[in-house]
Amino acid sequence: MKKTLALIVPCYNEQEVLPLFYDEVGKVLKKLSLGFRTELVFVNDGSADETLSILKDLAAMDPDVKYISFSRNFGKEAAMLAGMEYAVKNADYIGIIDADLQHSPELITEMLYYVDREGYDVAAARREDREGEAKLKSALSGAFYKVINRVSDTKISDSAQDFRIMKRKVVEAVLSMPENIRFSKGIFSWVGFNVKWISHENRERAAGETKWSIRKLFRYALDGILGYTNAPLRLSFLFSAVCGALTLIALIYALVRAIIGSYNPVIPLLLAAVFGVGAALLLSLGILGEYLARVYTEAKDRPKFIVSETNTEKE
Ligand code: UDP
Ligand code: MG
Repeated sequence: MKKTLALIVPCYNEQEVLPLFYDEVGKVLKKLSLGFRTELVFVNDGSADETLSILKDLAAMDPDVKYISFSRNFGKEAAMLAGMEYAVKNADYIGIIDADLQHSPELITEMLYYVDREGYDVAAARREDREGEAKLKSALSGAFYKVINRVSDTKISDSAQDFRIMKRKVVEAVLSMPENIRFSKGIFSWVGFNVKWISHENRERAAGETKWSIRKLFRYALDGILGYTNAPLRLSFLFSAVCGALTLIALIYALVRAIIGSYNPVIPLLLAAVFGVGAALLLSLGILGEYLARVYTEAKDRPKFIVSETNTEKE
C-alpha cells in the first residue's frame, strides 16, 4: 500500500498566490505520486478575500484537495493545529508549508526522502540568512531568541521554520500537548525526536503581503517566553536580594555614623527600614511566584514524557 503524505497549508487572505501555489506544489506532488498518495489540506484562517471560494474550486476539480475553513481569523498556530488534527487520522507523513511560496516546494521531495528512507522522524527547514526581511524585524527576532534561549530549558532555534515533514507519531506527540496558547516553535522543539535539518534560502513572497505586524510578532514572542520559561516569575527574588543588600549598606553606614558620634544616623536608619520592608515584600512575592509557576506548569498539563519507539505495545 502506498503511504500517504498530507501537506497542511495555512491560508489567510492568500487569493493572489493560491493558484500559483497549487500549480507549483502540484508539479512536485505529481512526481511523488508514483510512491505516495498525497493530499493537500488547506486551512482557511478566516480570510476576508476570495481564498475560500478558490479553495472550493480547487477541491471540486481535485479530490486530493481538502479544506477546513475557520469562522474567523484564529492565527497560523490554530490553522496548523486544525490541519494536524485532521491529517493525523489517515496520513503517514504530515507536512506544513506556507501558501506564499516562500517555502520552496522542491524541498518537499528531499524532506520526504529523509523521513521515509533515512530513518529520521522529522525533516525541517532551517534558514541560513534573514535576507529580504525588514531590518527591524530581524533585529527584534534576533534579540528575542537570545533571551528565550538563555532563560528557557527548551532550546528554540532562531532559524527553524514551520516548513517541515513529520512522521505521524511526531504529530501525535505535538497534539498531546493540550495547552491553549500554542507556540509551535517551542512545541516542535519540546517533543524532541530525530530531526534532519535542511538549509533553505529565504525566498521572496510570490504574491500578496505578509500577515505579520510588529504587534502580532510581539505577542507571539511573549507567548514563546511565557510558555517556555517561568524565569520572569523569579525576578522578584533578584529584586529582593538587591533591596536586602541596600538595607545592609544603609545599616552599616548608620552604624559607622553612630560610632563616629558626630552625626545623627536617623536618615540612613530610615533608608534601611524602607529597603528592608521592600526586601521582605519582594521575597514574599517571589515565594508566591514560585507557587504560581508550579500551578502554571501543572495547568499546562504537558505529557511527562514522549516515547519514540518501544516493543512493549501490541501492533
Ligand atoms: N497565516 C494564517 N493566519 C494568520 C497569519 C498567517 O494562516 O493569521 C498563514 C499565511 O497565509 C501564510 C503563513 O501563515 O501561509 C505565513 O504567513 P506570512 O507569509 O504572512 O508570514 P511571513 O512569511 O511574513 O512570516
Ligand atoms: Mg510568508
